[in-house]
Amino acid sequence: MEHPAIEARGLSRSYGRVKAISNLGLTIAPGEKVVLIGPNGSGKTTLIKLLSTLIRPTSGTLKLFGKDTASHGAQLRRRVGVLLHEPLLYNRLTALENLQFYSKMFNVPNEDRRIWELAEEMEIGDLLKTRVDSLSHGQRKRVSILRALLHDPPILLLDEPDAGLDQTAVQGLVKLVSRNGRTVVMSTHNLESGLSMAQRVIVLKKGKVIMDVDREVLDGANLDLGYEALVTG
Ligand code: ADP
Ligand code: MG
Repeated sequence: MEHPAIEARGLSRSYGRVKAISNLGLTIAPGEKVVLIGPNGSGKTTLIKLLSTLIRPTSGTLKLFGKDTASHGAQLRRRVGVLLHEPLLYNRLTALENLQFYSKMFNVPNEDRRIWELAEEMEIGDLLKTRVDSLSHGQRKRVSILRALLHDPPILLLDEPDAGLDQTAVQGLVKLVSRNGRTVVMSTHNLESGLSMAQRVIVLKKGKVIMDVDREVLDGANLDLGYEALVTG
């Protein structure tokens, strides 16, 4: 049988006495698109960082494609692309120089061609030669998204990618990231834009999954009311 793309068991991560993620179990099949919602502090960013292997669990196990992240971290990191709030770009380099740098790190073949192709799709071709510190917030975000896609990762993790992007950019982004049977886990404050790309909705609260449903269940009437009831209080 095919391994799940993501499989967490008893996954916990604490910061001091704060349990940011608490005994979380989760299985995500290859190609699934999952949107992660929940109030501030519910653990969305922590979960995305755990899945990206950027931080380690305090306890529990996390496997990607059947391999334990504790023992296969370096190998698995290459199969994951991640977008965090921090753009992870060097301000004093141009967008292109940044992307070339990451391409080398990931051994991306035909790097320049790959960068220009993706830049066309994201409509930032004309920005590539601009220094990052001269780009707007939204433009930096698009460069960061491109960076996360450079090595064509089978798992893509996006922490609130829609924050600071206009609606057209969000739609382009959703199309681009959802391709090729890629597994996508994306957190968002905007349930509507989340639902436009997800089949599955996971609601976190206090570091636990309190709801895990097919998007069809959430479609239809009173979506916003339901969402508010879920994530507040
Ligand atoms: P969300 O992304 O859903 O807002 P986070 O994962 O950022 O949630 O935070 C979950 C909990 O962990 C919060 O209580 C937050 O204060 C705490 N936390 C997150 N990152 C850190 C950190 N680096 N140091 C200390 N506490 C943290
Ligand atoms: Mg967050």
